[in-house]
Amino acid sequence: MAKYNGPQCKLCRREGMKLFLKGDRCYSSKCSVVKRQGAGAPGQHGKNRKKLSNFALQLREKQKAKKIYGLLEKQFRIIYNRADRKVGITGENLITLLEMRLDNVVYKLGFSNSRKEARQLVSHGHFLVNGKKVNIPSYVVKIDDIIELVDKSKSSEKFKVLVENRKMIPQWISIEDDKYKGKIVSLPSKDDLNVPFNETLIVEFYSK
Ligand code: SF4
Repeated sequence: MAKYNGPQCKLCRREGMKLFLKGDRCYSSKCSVVKRQGAGAPGQHGKNRKKLSNFALQLREKQKAKKIYGLLEKQFRIIYNRADRKVGITGENLITLLEMRLDNVVYKLGFSNSRKEARQLVSHGHFLVNGKKVNIPSYVVKIDDIIELVDKSKSSEKFKVLVENRKMIPQWISIEDDKYKGKIVSLPSKDDLNVPFNETLIVEFYSK
């Protein structure tokens, strides 16, 4: 499936909930979901929405997770397959693999306003993992990894402002002595997701 280049807010309206795809705007009254509360998905009238079948519910949860992390179907499927092959509960493995992507960690560390922006920043070489430059957004970090802004970028006004205004950091990441550096201290759990999705329904979707 081709990459979606349309308005981000439309993706949220389609799911009928905030997916936090646009940074500060998502926390303001300008958010389309807030403005249209009660209006339902685009092109539909919320009150008339049909009751979803089991398959449709599973599909929606999968689509929601894909949109949150900005992934194409092929990329999401690869991550799902990895989660399925890993020891443990597939749904929990899926959350771990999605959350521990380097672009997501950069976003959670407050170095960007959105995952989309985080992906660009990682690709442009702004971050080190354990002292080495990593420019692959899909790189999966591990416990004890140190993620750090490169020295050259620390003097940038943009990063200074972002770091000063960073929102709450999830418990599985700690900020080190240097505010431009974070450490992975544990595995993320479902409680750490800022937008919840039902991973069990996603597993059911792919298990057919
Ligand atoms: Fe747009 Fe963000 Fe609101 Fe979603 S949460 S509708 S991306 S402003």
